[in-house]
Amino acid sequence: MEVELKELLHDLESLNQSLHDPSHRASLDKLRLRIEHLTSMERSGPARRLKVKDMSAEVVDSNPYSRLMALQRMGIVENYERIRDFSVAIVGIGGVGSVAAEMLTRCGIGRLLLYDYDKVELANMNRLFFRPEQAGMTKTDAAVQTLSDINPDVVLESYTLNITTVQGFETFMSSLKNKSFRPSKEGIGVDLVLSCVDNYEARMAVNQACNELSQTWMESGVSEDAVSGHIQLLVPGETACFACAPPLVVASGVDERTLKREGVCAASLPTTMGVVAGLLVQNTLKFLLKFGNVSPYLGYNSLKDYFPTMEMKPNPQCSNVACLERQQEYILAKPARDAALKAKMEAESLSVEEGPLHADNEWSISVLDDNELNSMDATSSDALPEGLVRELPSADEPQRMVPPDAPLVSIDDLEELRRQLDALNST
Ligand SMILES: [Zn+2]
Repeated sequence: MEVELKELLHDLESLNQSLHDPSHRASLDKLRLRIEHLTSMERSGPARRLKVKDMSAEVVDSNPYSRLMALQRMGIVENYERIRDFSVAIVGIGGVGSVAAEMLTRCGIGRLLLYDYDKVELANMNRLFFRPEQAGMTKTDAAVQTLSDINPDVVLESYTLNITTVQGFETFMSSLKNKSFRPSKEGIGVDLVLSCVDNYEARMAVNQACNELSQTWMESGVSEDAVSGHIQLLVPGETACFACAPPLVVASGVDERTLKREGVCAASLPTTMGVVAGLLVQNTLKFLLKFGNVSPYLGYNSLKDYFPTMEMKPNPQCSNVACLERQQEYILAKPARDAALKAKMEAESLSVEEGPLHADNEWSISVLDDNELNSMDATSSDALPEGLVRELPSADEPQRMVPPDAPLVSIDDLEELRRQLDALNST
């Protein structure tokens, strides 16, 4: 940019000298001043931070990772820095995908692969992430522009293509398989695929690719009335794939293929999309860094603030051939899986130690383990003065929507769940 401005200034000077009519000089001088102003603005533009070699846990204001590395010190994550080894592919850089990409970038993910064929439009400005001046740019290029400024440590790959076309699907598959970022990695080149698309065909394309590659992925969606959404974990062979049973939000709504009609516009809210992106990336972090429980399915109904969860087993009659192959492999690998689980449980039972979780820390925060919390509930918070009855549930005891011993949902229960969700949506 600065070089171009310098050339422009040079051309202007030549023009000035070749002009015989002095009446034009004033307007040329004006132009020269504007170019000089632009040059000085360009020079004083925001400086990008330099890449950092290692993630530091040092608590200083200039460390972009101190708050994330503190998760390790607080005992939530065992090794936060591992995040730099991971590659995540995000398909669909819209209201959910762009926000998910920003969250993962700020968390210091190693590499992000971004796929979208669309351009940024002013009609997208009700959502987060994209800015009005980016209108007309491809979503992938605009995303790389913003994300590389936020965190230059993240390796960004932008794929402006439609994965539902033959050529697009081929490029999608080969980019997922590419292991140049971490050649020693097991399996293919990415650790997780996030589907943030808004249509049935694209979801089926992601499903096909992940079934063929035996790649774990997460699906996300927001309803066309903008007030509910879901995320879903799909492990080929182990859980239902997208062709085994469509997610409930899709199943209960209008046929998605009829949605994109001329002149028909789905509603969208930055709130619902932000919540769904947050749930998706939270599940992603838990999956990659191995902490907490990774949700197999988590719904969000914003009208009732209701978050249903469930598990879905694969359908032995699934129409997707690759899904059936993965199911077969999963069944065959059961003895090895059982043996590994048994060994892990034995090792864990040997290493259990009594005592405080954290003897001391520099913030003077004490951490209680769950048993202590339970015993505190029983003695302190449950004890009400005589004659008083508790009207609201105790703050430490969230009301359970599903009894803890409820059986897992199978394909057969889908019809019933669909009816329940229909009833919920119609009220
Ligand atoms: Zn399937």
